[in-house]
Amino acid sequence: MAAAASVTGLVTWARSLVRSRCLGRRLSLSGPRPEAATNPVNRSLNDHGNGLRRGARGGGGGSLVAGRGSGAAAAAVAVAPAPALSAMQRGSPERELAVAEAAAEAEEEQLSVDAGAAGEPERPAREEQPKAALPVTARPRAAEEGDVRVARRLPPALPLAPPRPVARALCQLAKGRSRGRGRYRRGSGSLWPVTVDSSKARTSLDALKISLRQLRWKEFPFGRRLPCDIYWHGVSFRDSDILSGQVNKFPGMTEMVRKITLSRALRIMQNLFPDEYNFYPRSWILPEEFQLFVTEVRMVKDGDPTWKPTFIVKPDSGCQGDGIYLIKDPNDIRMTGTLQNRPAVVQEYICKPLLIDNLKFDIRLYVLLKSLEPLEIYIAKDGLSRFCTEPYHEPNPQNLHHIFMHLTNYSLNIHSGKFVHSDSASTGSKRTFSSILCRLSSKGIDIKKVWSDIISLVIKTVIALTPELKVFYQSDIPTGRPGPTCFQILGFDILLMKNLKPMLLEVNANPSMRIEHEYELSPGVFENIPSLVDEEVKVAVIRDTLRLMNPLKKKEMHFPDICMDRKHRIPAVSDRMSSSKLKGSSLFVARSQHSGKPFTGKEDLDCDLTGDPDSNPEAHLPSICLKQVFPKYAKQFNYLRLVDRMANLFIRFLGIKGTMKLGPTGFRTFIRNCKLSSSSLSMAAVDILYIDITRRWNSVALDQRDSGMCLQAFVEAFFFLAQRKFKLLPLLEQVASLIDLCEYHLSLLDEKRLVCGRGRRPQSSPPHETNPTTQSAAGSPAPRIIGAYKLSHSRHALS
Ligand code: ADP
Repeated sequence: MAAAASVTGLVTWARSLVRSRCLGRRLSLSGPRPEAATNPVNRSLNDHGNGLRRGARGGGGGSLVAGRGSGAAAAAVAVAPAPALSAMQRGSPERELAVAEAAAEAEEEQLSVDAGAAGEPERPAREEQPKAALPVTARPRAAEEGDVRVARRLPPALPLAPPRPVARALCQLAKGRSRGRGRYRRGSGSLWPVTVDSSKARTSLDALKISLRQLRWKEFPFGRRLPCDIYWHGVSFRDSDILSGQVNKFPGMTEMVRKITLSRALRIMQNLFPDEYNFYPRSWILPEEFQLFVTEVRMVKDGDPTWKPTFIVKPDSGCQGDGIYLIKDPNDIRMTGTLQNRPAVVQEYICKPLLIDNLKFDIRLYVLLKSLEPLEIYIAKDGLSRFCTEPYHEPNPQNLHHIFMHLTNYSLNIHSGKFVHSDSASTGSKRTFSSILCRLSSKGIDIKKVWSDIISLVIKTVIALTPELKVFYQSDIPTGRPGPTCFQILGFDILLMKNLKPMLLEVNANPSMRIEHEYELSPGVFENIPSLVDEEVKVAVIRDTLRLMNPLKKKEMHFPDICMDRKHRIPAVSDRMSSSKLKGSSLFVARSQHSGKPFTGKEDLDCDLTGDPDSNPEAHLPSICLKQVFPKYAKQFNYLRLVDRMANLFIRFLGIKGTMKLGPTGFRTFIRNCKLSSSSLSMAAVDILYIDITRRWNSVALDQRDSGMCLQAFVEAFFFLAQRKFKLLPLLEQVASLIDLCEYHLSLLDEKRLVCGRGRRPQSSPPHETNPTTQSAAGSPAPRIIGAYKLSHSRHALS
């Protein structure tokens, strides 16, 4: 992958990681890499050890492209228009409520727990998410894969924010506290501690508490009547109505990473960018694509009778291996009863995974989505590797049911009897990923390439998810209404193939943050004991996520000095940026980028935040374990964000805020404003297109709340229009050209409206060049194919 290969700067990171893990052992990068077990025949869709890629793509359908009779298929992605973006960009208004806080301090004290203090309040009993019965495990549990699915609820009612000027509020609060009210703590470096509501933290509570204690922030374990700076939710964005501050969940994330939705989102990217998105196994959605699945498999088998594939069937709403089974033949799918009621994804089984000690394992990586707009992604430098407990053999009819051989889920393998609990990071059935890298590097494997491929996979996956997330965001937190800003830790489950290529298995919106495991004292008698491996990785992820999201740091940027007690203030941003101690932290890298300073590789070093605790409130903490990968590598990946632009158009025509579906009038306006109708595409045909696609999508959509055209349906319609308009071009360029065309006409329209508003004549913008090769299907000259140019340009940049 060109993009992956061009991800520079990872060398340092990967090396430093391994060096620290290997206690100074040098990397040997010269050794041979194991060969891929099979050669991909089809350039665009690689074989994942199964061979299905061989000629499976193409005529068989399965395409998302409208008009190919593929059924409901387009993927799910979208982007916000200017007004929606402003909602995502705005700062949270939590401090506007800060004045009221001073008046209620006495009351708060009764509820609050100082995270820096030694004692902790008794943990309230928490109700764990009910889980479906596991067919193979003795009993359900919250485990590593714990991804809890929660239905969306309606947005909250309009909140009331006191119209006090923020700066005045900050001044008053700062003065009050610095007058000796006991809130300022030397070493915290702050006039007031960051407040965190942990009342909905559920199973992440223990790790959160440790993190808050390390940060010396203030925890509210039972919630708080006044707003907190940060709300830490164990499950979903909609755990309660939050009107300000920051919440650790995005609206819609749980829906977006469900197996079906994720497969759809990635499939559209596979259609547009087959080479770049070959890290996700070919998948079909059941029951709607069952016939397609059968047909495609038969086609490949006809072409190659020696092909003996295996498939894995995964229920859409399942987690922790719940309901998963392997099959050799499409007809083995258990169609009876459950499937109709319980949709699933059937996927190529990766039958040649990388083994360690003859055991299959997967990788859980933690990824922080810090912001949607602008897109900011961080990856934790360490993750977990979960091991199977039975030696691996390629699937055959005799071992298909051996779950301890084929499924790496912790929640399953812990019941095998061969599960090894270990307090060492490099042994046992759950280890740190860095210990695996260390082991691989000692065998001469190029681990910097592995890391760069993983980073590439993560960025591309997030790019596939973000457009639809933006549709959710503008719906849940419309522009102009108070609401929280969001961030989220995602759990990426990745399998390394024998040839070291990382493959995405799934994304968890609520990765388990438990730092204890159950130990079976005697049959049926379990005890919770701390898991040092979990604690090492997860506490660092939570703590450093909080450090990156620290609202006081943001405030300082917005309200420098004016309200601060000069003696005790945290150094101004400029001071800190010039501080040699902070140079190189991920935070520093992010800021230098946002401030437009040229990025030099030197800044991208790990740093030890050691030094004077008064000048550096994080002096007692280790260096940040989260590494920024976007926008850091934006140049290499921005060309993939085509569906983002498509979704921008969608959101623009949504009209009424709070909806997620486009009505017929909105779709007509889109066609008209973008000048897409012609003699060959009448408005009557447009209406039929709308009805046809919308009806099909609504019959399979998970969200049945609103009627109208969902984003996936819009994407399908867009593909259809692009194919009609630019018949002679390849699909990618068809779509890119149509996006360019739409954006061009809309910008003209905006300009016209702006000028009319000012009562002046529009300034004539230079006409677009007409490219003779891009004559539209309708015969009218199309604007220059900007998209095609941009794409070829970005490809050159990559190579
Ligand atoms: P769940 O959410 O139920 O854990 P996953 O998609 O993570 O579902 O699958 C469970 C396990 O099955 C994975 O941890 C992995 O070991 C195995 N697995 C899933 N998909 C594949 C695949 N395509 N090829 C090989 N193994 C897979």
